[in-house]
Amino acid sequence: MDVTLRTLFCRFAILSSALLAASSAFAQSTVQRMYVLYCGESTTKDVSANWSPGVNVGVARDFSDNCYLIEHAEGWFLWDSGMSASIAATPEGVTAASGLLTMYVKKTLASQLEALGVAPAEISRIAFSHFHSDHVGNANLFTAATLYIQEPEYDAAFGADAAKFGFAPKFYDKLAGNKVMKLHGDDDVFGDGSVTIISTPGHTPGHQSLLVRLPKSGAVVLSGDMVHFQDNWDNRRVPARNFDKEQSAKSMERVAKLLEDEHAKLWINHDKAQSASVAHAPGFVE
Ligand SMILES: [Zn+2]
Repeated sequence: MDVTLRTLFCRFAILSSALLAASSAFAQSTVQRMYVLYCGESTTKDVSANWSPGVNVGVARDFSDNCYLIEHAEGWFLWDSGMSASIAATPEGVTAASGLLTMYVKKTLASQLEALGVAPAEISRIAFSHFHSDHVGNANLFTAATLYIQEPEYDAAFGADAAKFGFAPKFYDKLAGNKVMKLHGDDDVFGDGSVTIISTPGHTPGHQSLLVRLPKSGAVVLSGDMVHFQDNWDNRRVPARNFDKEQSAKSMERVAKLLEDEHAKLWINHDKAQSASVAHAPGFVE
């Protein structure tokens, strides 16, 4: 091998090992899997009373409620914590939202985490779509996690007027001492584009949704309460009790555009039929 060839060969070797390092770094930095956890269920006697104003008056509706546990090379990330485990002690259900809803918990989040072998203290990052009690019901389990939250939601939830926003601090007050990332818009949680918080205000002051780029299934957007079920999404209906109707409509349009751009699926947390079509823990999606 002459000198020129040897130099070229060396350069090629260096370049390929650099590429290999870069690609394995990329492979390590993506989401590995996502567990969808049962996090309660609820029913209303009249869906028009809040969720579809003027439509389906007097029609009952059941809602699912999920939590989403994401395994990433840099640690566990939990999205939403569902309804409080305390509801499990009342099998006939607990009324909420001024009697609009009855909530049931037939299996606790803690028991499902235990079955997966994941201790709450091992979950290093946590975010909630918003601070209503069907999403932060078990938040107090996660005092070791860094909390990702929009600043307007933080101010509403941890301020003196939390009840005005429909928030019940008893479910999440222990998070006041957590390390917190106060956000002002979207946030790429791991810095590799695999898990991105999307600011979708309207349902509450700092409501957010989650874009997850799954390694095999592709991109999904977890709705939080940006929308509650497919028919409302198809008709872009804004629930009567949302914090800001105009913001709510804008957030829906924003997510619709995001779904197009990302070729992403929308997973609607409270849509019972759609939730039932997704594998739940101990199964997972990749
Ligand atoms: Zn909800």
